[in-house]
Amino acid sequence: MSRYSNLSHSELERMLSESERLLRADTDTDTDYLLHNLQLHKIELEIQNRDLMESQKELENIRDQYAELYDFAPVGYLTLDKNGIINNLNISAAAMFGAERSRIVGRPLSTQLAPGMGRLLFDHLRHAFSSDQKVTADLALKTTSDGITRYVRADTIVHADLESQAHCLMNLIDTTERRRAEQAVIDERTFLQHVIDGVENPIMVISLDFKVLRMNEAAKRIATMQKIDPEHACCYQISHQVDRPCDGDDYPCPLKIVLQTRLPTKVTHNHISEFGTQRKYEVSVSPLFDDDGEIMGVIESSHDITEHLELLDELKERQLSYAHLAQHDALTGLPNRLLFADRLSQAIHVAHRNKSMLAVLFIDLDRFKEVNDSFNHATGDAVLKEVAERFQSLFREDDTIARMGGDEFTVILTHIKKDSNAALVAKKLLNLFKKPFTIQNHKLYLTASIGISLYPDHGDSVDELVRNADTAMYRAKEEGRNTFQYYTLELTARAFERVFLASSLHNAISQNELILHYQPQIELITKEICGVEALVRWQNRDLGLLTPDKFIPLAEESEVIDEMGAWIMKEACQQMKAWQDSGILRSDMTISVNLSGKQFDHNNLLEEIEQTLTATGLSPDCLELEITETTMMRSTSVTSETLRKLRKLGVKVAVDDFGTGYSSLNYLKQLPITRLKIDKTFISDIPDDLNDVAISKAIIAMANNLLLDVLAEGIETGEQHQFLIQQGCRVGQGYLFARPMPSDQFESFIEQTRQG
Ligand code: C2E
Ligand code: MG
Ligand code: MG
Repeated sequence: MSRYSNLSHSELERMLSESERLLRADTDTDTDYLLHNLQLHKIELEIQNRDLMESQKELENIRDQYAELYDFAPVGYLTLDKNGIINNLNISAAAMFGAERSRIVGRPLSTQLAPGMGRLLFDHLRHAFSSDQKVTADLALKTTSDGITRYVRADTIVHADLESQAHCLMNLIDTTERRRAEQAVIDERTFLQHVIDGVENPIMVISLDFKVLRMNEAAKRIATMQKIDPEHACCYQISHQVDRPCDGDDYPCPLKIVLQTRLPTKVTHNHISEFGTQRKYEVSVSPLFDDDGEIMGVIESSHDITEHLELLDELKERQLSYAHLAQHDALTGLPNRLLFADRLSQAIHVAHRNKSMLAVLFIDLDRFKEVNDSFNHATGDAVLKEVAERFQSLFREDDTIARMGGDEFTVILTHIKKDSNAALVAKKLLNLFKKPFTIQNHKLYLTASIGISLYPDHGDSVDELVRNADTAMYRAKEEGRNTFQYYTLELTARAFERVFLASSLHNAISQNELILHYQPQIELITKEICGVEALVRWQNRDLGLLTPDKFIPLAEESEVIDEMGAWIMKEACQQMKAWQDSGILRSDMTISVNLSGKQFDHNNLLEEIEQTLTATGLSPDCLELEITETTMMRSTSVTSETLRKLRKLGVKVAVDDFGTGYSSLNYLKQLPITRLKIDKTFISDIPDDLNDVAISKAIIAMANNLLLDVLAEGIETGEQHQFLIQQGCRVGQGYLFARPMPSDQFESFIEQTRQG
């Protein structure tokens, strides 16, 4: 562009006409040349003028474009003076204010804002004018006539060029929609929080590292009560007040379960409630998935089920008590007919499987109707109750005693080994009636009749066994009442003897009915007496003299054997000492006393024998205990220890009935045995039975090799005597020499042999 380019169009016009005037004045020499030049300049100037016009137009266009950009930019622009008066603003800004630009310019910005925004604007502008940085504020604009409140974010900076005039530039971004979206999110959240807060059970959203991301009011209350910061709480702290995650069978961790199964789960925990009490909670936990389907945590809601469980327990108890009522007799509390049938059928099943025996006892009170008729029903009931109580006192847990109705009772006896055992129980039941029933100051004497049936002999079903026991009970009534009967007569007869003996055995000792017989033990070669065996007898008032096989097994079935054994031991030792003291027997002779297996099992045997020896003054080495081979085989470490201690005292130990059991050499070596007594069954058929001969020979040889004494029992013939001497057996017992006899006869026997 030329040097004139800065001149305006009118100035150029003026310069051109001035030049023409000067030229016209100087018309001499170079006029043409000058004119030409001037003409050129004019053209040049015209061109320049046209360029200038075009540039100007271009500029105006650009300016218009910028103005448009400025006006319609998506951001509102304002210039404000120090007092917040709007100097200028673009159309976008005016649109945000919802008014025409011309009506806004020159007015304070505060008039465009929502009520209450004035203070905020004031602070914002003050801040902007005191800072060289951009400052920001969120402003709410005046609500438009159609009720819309817009929100803007204002960024304000003091313009450097305008600083002298202290103006500032403010741009406004419409945040209404964003705020609305944000508010919607907040509203949604608040709504959801209200929803979970409205649930009365604690709810927690838990991350995979047990942190509580969100909780409802109920959970918060627990946290507050336990002084736990809800913002930084772990689930286990809130629920259990512990510092590590749940574990084990009592407190299974539901989070771990959900991670394994990816399915909702329920567990029961003991939690501390918001009131600080231990409660049972059902914890329901569901997985919380992220957009990729990965578990990001769990939602846990716990529900106090303490009362529910208590209610269930109560219900169960009630059910049980209803079941009890349905199966028991209301008056006596005993099982009723229904339960009895059920138990009996089970018992039959078991007995069938174990190939064992059982008994059913049918008990009917004698003349009970008279009690009911002469008193009243209440008295009858009281009697029945007491009868039931007396019955119950007799039975073990696994026996069943039931009331069938009226005055009828039934009993199931399991584990009975012999048919006669049932009779022993029946007898005991009858004995329960010996004591009178005292009802309303009246003494009532009652009896009962009992029928007995046995499985499998008398039936293998509930009906059959009950029916047959009932039949037997009627026979007992016919027999004159206050007695028992088996379903079959021969059983009754056999049982009676045993029952009779068993019941009178108790009195045998106190009534001095037991006596000892003594059988001498003989040196086979010299036929001299070298010892004596004590053998017990029962002088029964009704049945006469009874041998031990009749009553020892009965005594063993009850506790009587202990008392009886102690009596025998004392009596035998006393007698032996007396005989030694009076010179009837030598002081190096022994007395043999038989021990029952039951006695041998009891712990106090050692002390008992020691005491007896001390009390009687008999030397321990004058006492020999006889234990059977079977008892020896059953010996335990305790019993063999007892034997060893007795042996240490000097007491001798013989194995009775040797050869009838299955003893091993091992036992003979291990136990402190001093003598073997060959059982009389091997001796009785000598010399005819070659087996017995061989066995006797072998026992004698074995005893000699083991350095044990040997005694042959039951020697009845001279042949047996000679045979035993030949085999090296030195001592024997038997009718050939003497039978067992009472002490006075024994003394005469000694006298005679001495004289002989
Ligand atoms: P045991 O200890 O083997 O007694 C020997 C048995 O054989 C005695 O029978 C005796 O009378 C009998 N006897 C003796 N010599 C002969 C004979 O030559 N021929 C025959 N056939 N028999 C003979 P008893 O007194 O009836 O005793 C039987 C069993 O009862 C005894 O067998 C013993 O095991 C047991 N016993 C006897 N007295 C007592 C005792 O005081 N306490 C304990 N627990 N059991 C005893
Ligand atoms: Mg014996
Ligand atoms: Mg014997």
